[in-house]
Amino acid sequence: MIPAPFAYLRPDSLGAAVAALAADEDAKALAGGQSLVPLLRFRLAAPTTVVDLSGVDGLRGVADDGDALRIGALTTHHEVVRDPLVAEHCALLAMAARTVADPAVRHRGTLGGSLAHADPAADLPAAVLALGAEMEVEGPDGARTVPASAFFADYLTTALEPGEVLAAVRVPKLTGWGFHYEKFSRTAQAWAVVGVAAAVRREDGAVAEARVGLASMAPVPVRAGEAERACGGAAGAEDLRAAGALAREAGSPPSDLNGGADYRRHLAGVLAGRALARAAGMEAVQA
Ligand code: FAD
Repeated sequence: MIPAPFAYLRPDSLGAAVAALAADEDAKALAGGQSLVPLLRFRLAAPTTVVDLSGVDGLRGVADDGDALRIGALTTHHEVVRDPLVAEHCALLAMAARTVADPAVRHRGTLGGSLAHADPAADLPAAVLALGAEMEVEGPDGARTVPASAFFADYLTTALEPGEVLAAVRVPKLTGWGFHYEKFSRTAQAWAVVGVAAAVRREDGAVAEARVGLASMAPVPVRAGEAERACGGAAGAEDLRAAGALAREAGSPPSDLNGGADYRRHLAGVLAGRALARAAGMEAVQA
């Protein structure tokens, strides 16, 4: 189908982008277009103005910012996968980005676009939640920071207010942590039926701290708190698989064409155990 008519703007500064979005309550930002353009074509979205962010300087790339990495919202999934700073300090993000769709989507789709779109089955929201990232938001009233735990508000809905742009994501450097992302999908390159982002810190061989972010287990990405707490002191893969099984109780999974709620719960328990054991280096990762 052909999209409904809209005005197209391509501002060259963040201030101008915010002003353009704030000037029209039916305006939408455009990043990689991998979610917005299909919505336009199916007329599931019909903004009167599309504000293309691609001309705005400074929204792209990964920078070392002391105890965190600052990743520009327009950084593509492909760039996240390839970035050496991401690999060194928060490899979980690259592991999740690597599972997104296919190379064509990964070359166009952006980190900021994925987070702002907030599809509950998306891989990157679960990863930024587990990593404890913060969103740098720019809006008509200035800049503000929103923790990932408060950013995802509901199905396809975030804490972004009208006129606000997600400018960057601040991801803490989790030095000494191990990571793993497990995804179960019906076909290669498809969306997650369930996705599990795991981060584990060990001390003297045993698990001191663990985090588990889940995709497709609720209208928003969720942490599996009970599973995380049960990981404390785990000294082997069996302990972590038992702790991970508690992830089945997290969230409120949907039943849809990809699987029922009970099936998702079963998957979450199995995949979380596996992801935790692999993040801790207690189970080999198959190539
Ligand atoms: P756009 O499509 O440009 O925008 C999406 C939404 O976010 C729009 O509402 C837009 O207004 C808003 N937005 C974008 N950037 C900003 C910003 N900086 N500030 C404020 N609002 C903003 N994702 C997965 O996680 N896993 C998958 O397996 C997966 N499979 C896919 C398969 C296909 C065939 C396709 C087409 C997409 C798939 N995706 C998947 C989605 C992909 O990750 C998209 O890149 C992502 O959802 C949107 O990013 P984008 O940069 O293309 O954003």
